Amino acid sequence: MKKIIILSTILIIFLAFYFTPRYYPNSYVNKMINSAAAFFSMGISINDLISKYSDTEKNGKIKILLVPGHEPNFGGAEYKDLLERDLNLTLSEKIKNILSKNNKFEIITSRNINGWNPELEKYVNNNKNEILVWINNMKSSMSKLVNNGKINVVNAEMGHSIAPLKSAILLYGINKWAGENKVDIAIHLHFNDNPKYKGKPNFEGFSIYVPEKQYSNGTSSKILAKDLFDEISKIQKVSTMPEENVGIIEDQELIALGRYNTSDSLSVIIEYAYIYENFMQNKKLRNDFIEKSASSTANAINKFFESRI
Ligand SMILES: [Zn+2]
Repeated sequence: MKKIIILSTILIIFLAFYFTPRYYPNSYVNKMINSAAAFFSMGISINDLISKYSDTEKNGKIKILLVPGHEPNFGGAEYKDLLERDLNLTLSEKIKNILSKNNKFEIITSRNINGWNPELEKYVNNNKNEILVWINNMKSSMSKLVNNGKINVVNAEMGHSIAPLKSAILLYGINKWAGENKVDIAIHLHFNDNPKYKGKPNFEGFSIYVPEKQYSNGTSSKILAKDLFDEISKIQKVSTMPEENVGIIEDQELIALGRYNTSDSLSVIIEYAYIYENFMQNKKLRNDFIEKSASSTANAINKFFESRI
């Protein structure tokens, strides 16, 4: 009897540990699964991009899409009188001005001071159903690969808020439009936010999100992200948020990066700072930072090509 009690106690303790998620942290489980993962087929390779860049007369210009995060009058972080969506826009204009000096680039923005890029807006408005069908098809292709054990689901450690349907269609629409228009690189520009901890803002610094490595655009996007990281880390510290402090974070769920493998372009999301950081509250320091962020980003993109030619 004593033996049975001891054995069942051991069994109960074992089961309790086994089914407690903390016992096997997600990152550990994912690492184990990833080591046996099959991959989506490779998308745009760095070599393809560099050889395109080396002769744009023949191959056409490198198409770079700048996406200032969120919508003209909706979404994004807000702190005191600062609106993230407006900061993103200012930054986007500055990056565009610098990159446009390189005549091997064609710079497209998803929106500017006048609102949405009209071509993109028309595309999304006129193709809502097609976009929804496409999302479903991509989602079910991915589900099949997951069910066959070819792709592993990786959940974000920090969790993400769910985009409202209208914003989600827009983001997927941008991916679809970018694919059909052969956009090579999509750069999503953001300032970060996080729920206040103990009543005051906490984390600081920048982070770069890239598509999870199983996606077609994962490998090449990460190489671009490393170049961006090298430049931006000269002007801003890396995020102090524990899930972001590696600087470059792979993510399978963010639509902008190509959730369900929906982005053919190299894609990155850059969070330049937390919106409530001290220097962001001072107009001069904030403008200086936006100026420096624009030149760091543009420098990284120019170097990405020039250093590999
Ligand atoms: Zn944002």
